[in-house]
Amino acid sequence: MKLHLFESLPQAFATIPPREIGSLLPGPSLFFLEGERTPPLFVSILLHGNETTGLLALQHLLKETEGTFPRSIILFVGNIRAAQAGVRKMDHEPDYNRIWSGGQSEEEQLASEVLRHVAEHTPLACIDMHNNTGKNPHYACVNTLDRPTVNLARRFSPTIVYFTEPHEVISIACSRIAPSVTLECGIAGEFSGTMHACDYLKSCLFSNQEQLFSHPEGKHDDVFHTVAKITLPDNARPGFGNRCDDADICFRSDFDLLNFTRVAAGTVLGTAQTQAGILNVSNNLNKDVTEEYFQIRNGEIRTTRHFIPAMFTMDRTVIHQDCLGYIMEPYPIHEEKPCIGSKRELRC
Ligand SMILES: [Zn+2]
Repeated sequence: MKLHLFESLPQAFATIPPREIGSLLPGPSLFFLEGERTPPLFVSILLHGNETTGLLALQHLLKETEGTFPRSIILFVGNIRAAQAGVRKMDHEPDYNRIWSGGQSEEEQLASEVLRHVAEHTPLACIDMHNNTGKNPHYACVNTLDRPTVNLARRFSPTIVYFTEPHEVISIACSRIAPSVTLECGIAGEFSGTMHACDYLKSCLFSNQEQLFSHPEGKHDDVFHTVAKITLPDNARPGFGNRCDDADICFRSDFDLLNFTRVAAGTVLGTAQTQAGILNVSNNLNKDVTEEYFQIRNGEIRTTRHFIPAMFTMDRTVIHQDCLGYIMEPYPIHEEKPCIGSKRELRC
C-alpha cells in the first residue's frame, strides 16, 4: 500500500463531495502545505471514511483563507476507499484508526511511514478529526494529561475524554510527538460540527505556541476517563425502541440520549429477547467486568451501578465493527494531584 506525498492540494479539493474524494486522490495521502509560519500543525481526516466533518471543515477553511494558511499544515487524508463507499471502513480491511501502534500489515506499515514524516517535521500539535454516530456533545479526547494537551482540548470543548484504550489510535502515537487531541464533532455532515471544527482549526493556525497551550479563559473543564467498553456478540442482532421484531436484544428508544449523562444504578437499558441477547463489558486490561455493570433479570437489562456512557450508538454497523459504547467515570484534574500511575498514564 502506497502513501502518496504531495506539496499542494488539488484545486477541486476545496469543493469535492466526500464520496468523490477518490477521483482526486489515488489512496491514503500526506500533504505538506506551506503556511506563513512554522512549526506546522498536523491534521488527520477521514481515518473513518464516513466521518466527513474534518474534510468539510478544511474545505470551509480553504474558502475563508483563499487557500493560504497562517501556519503550515501537514494533512493526512486516510481511508479514501471507505470515504468513496460512504462507510467507516471496508469489510475486509482494518479500521484505519487502529493501525498506529506498529505491526507488519501493509496498513500498519503505511501508518508508521506517516508517523516518520510527521515526527521529522516536529509539529506544534496534532489534531485528528472524527464524528459520532449517536447523539453526543462535541468533545475532545486526550491520551495524556499534561497541561498543554488538556488546554489544547479545552479550546475545543469543556467536555474532555481521557482514554488509553484502544491504544492503536493515531492520537496516542502522535502524543509521543506533540500535544495531541481527537475531536469528536457530533454527527457527520451537521453544519454546526463543521463550523465548530473549522473555527477550532483557524484558532490553532493563528495562535502562537504560548496562546495555543495556555488555559482558555473562563472555561471550566469536565474530564471523563473511559474505563470500559461494551460490545455485543458477533451474532447478536440489536434493535431499538419499536424496531425490535427480529432483535436478540432490544434497547430503549432514547438509548443514545444517555451519552454524557449520569445513569443511576437500577436503570433499565432494554430487554434481552433471546439467548444471544447479552452484553459484554471489558475494562482497559481487557478483563470481563460485565457483572460489575449489568444484570439481566426477567429479561430486563439493568445497570448495577451508576456510570456515564459515551458513544452509545444505534448504528448496527458501528456496533459490530467497533462497539456499542464506552463507560466513563468523572476524572477531576483541576486540583493538583500527586504524580501517581504509570508514566504513560499520567505525566505531571
Ligand atoms: Zn472515527
